[in-house]
Amino acid sequence: MAISFCPIGGESYNLAPGQLCPVHGTLLESIVQMATLNIIGTQSTWNGIVLALSGDGDPIGLATDYLRQQGFTHGDTVAVTGNRELLGSTRVLFIDSVQRA
Ligand SMILES: [Zn+2]
Repeated sequence: MAISFCPIGGESYNLAPGQLCPVHGTLLESIVQMATLNIIGTQSTWNGIVLALSGDGDPIGLATDYLRQQGFTHGDTVAVTGNRELLGSTRVLFIDSVQRA
């Protein structure tokens, strides 16, 4: 599971936060942090990034369905771990786990 990401490229790593990005040489930041969950229609965003979930169908809609099934609602403060990837031209965070504050 990725635990850090590069603030320049947005790519994810299993390296500890504070280590240097192997590609860009920048300090890696922790993926695990608390931020507000925004659920609007079929799209969920957290910490400024759209959430996605692997599976059959639209990854962004799947993430929103999953969050609702888990009892999360718009405005909740949560920690999300996952991998930042490009979905088409949109940078998204593929969810590994979501936890309440
Ligand atoms: Zn990087």
